[in-house]
Amino acid sequence: MKPYSSARDDFKGNASIFLDANENPYRKEYNRYPDPRQQKIKDRLSEIKKIASDNIFLGNGSDEAIDLIFRIFCEPSIDNVIIPEPTYGMYEVCANINNVAIKRVLLNTDFSLNTSAILNAVDKNTKVIFICSPNNPTANLFDTSEVTKILKNFQGIAVIDEAYIDFSTKESWIKMINEYPNLIVIQTLSKAWGLAAIRLGMAFSTKEIIELFNKVKYPYNINELTQEYALTQLSKLDEKESWVNELVNQRNILKKELQEISFIKKVYPSDANYLLIKVDDASLRYEQLASKGIIVRNRNTMPLCANCLRITIGTEKENDQLLSVLKELSK
Ligand SMILES: *Cc1c(COP(=O)(O)O)cnc(C)c1O
Repeated sequence: MKPYSSARDDFKGNASIFLDANENPYRKEYNRYPDPRQQKIKDRLSEIKKIASDNIFLGNGSDEAIDLIFRIFCEPSIDNVIIPEPTYGMYEVCANINNVAIKRVLLNTDFSLNTSAILNAVDKNTKVIFICSPNNPTANLFDTSEVTKILKNFQGIAVIDEAYIDFSTKESWIKMINEYPNLIVIQTLSKAWGLAAIRLGMAFSTKEIIELFNKVKYPYNINELTQEYALTQLSKLDEKESWVNELVNQRNILKKELQEISFIKKVYPSDANYLLIKVDDASLRYEQLASKGIIVRNRNTMPLCANCLRITIGTEKENDQLLSVLKELSK
C-alpha cells in the first residue's frame, strides 16, 4: 500500500517560493500545510522519552492511535480483539466502528489481570490484546510479570495504554519496545501534561509498526496550531512534573479523607489521577453531588464496579469542596 504523497513529502529542502500545494500566499500565517510527520515534536519527545524519533507516532489524541490499530491489524468481520473488563471504553467503540469482534475477559476481583483466561481466549483470528495500565477506571497498574506473560505468549499485537503512567511510580513499557516486536505503547498529552484540548496522543513501537501507522493515517493529522503549542509546552517538563507531584499528593490526602466518610465502603488503591470508590448507592450519590455542582463519573454499570464512582483529583480547593459536600451528605 502506498500512502498519499503530499506536496510537503515530495519536496524536502530549502526554498522560498512554494507553488506546489495550492495554498493562499496572501495570508501570512497558518496558510501552509503543516509538517505531515511532525518531526520537531518527535525530536523533542525523543529526548524526553529516550527513544528514537522513528519509534514514535503522533495522533489526533491517542484515540486516533487506537482506531488506527484496528484499521491496520484487523480484518473487519473476521478478526477479533481481546479486551479485559472493566476498562477504557474507546477500545470497544473502535472495535464496533471497525466491525471487529470483541472477546471480553473479566479482571480478577482484585482488579488484577486474569492472564491465563486472556491467553486461553486467543484464537487464530485474535489480532490485538488491549492492556490499559494504570487501568481506567480501576486505577491500578498491572503486574510486570503478568503483562510479560502476554507479550511473550501472544503472537499478535499487545497494546499497553499508559495514559496515566506519569502518576505511577512504576516505569513505562516504552523501553521494552525493541525487546518485544509485538508491543505498542500508547501515551497522551491529555492527562499529566494537562493538554486535553489540543488533542495530541502518542504511540511508541518498532520502526516497522510505526511505518504502518504513517501509511494509514491522514496526511496532516496533527494541525499546525497543535504542533506549535505542543512544542512550546514540551519544553516545560518541570512544570508537568510539579503538577504530577501535587496531584499525587492531593490523591493521597483525598484517599485518607474519603475513607472517613460513612457511606464510602471502599477507596481503591490508585496509580492514576483519579480514585475509584465504592459507595452505598452510586446513582444516589452521583445525583446528590451533581445537584451541588460537582460532577464525578458513575461507573455503576461497569463489570466489577457495582456502586462505584470515579473521582478525578482536582485542585486542593476543589477536593476540599468535594469533601465538605460529602461530609454534609453523610450526616
Ligand atoms: C484519557 C485516556 C486516553 C486519552 O485519550 P486522548 O485521545 O489522548 O485524549 C487514552 N486512554 C485512556 C485509558 C484514557 O483514560
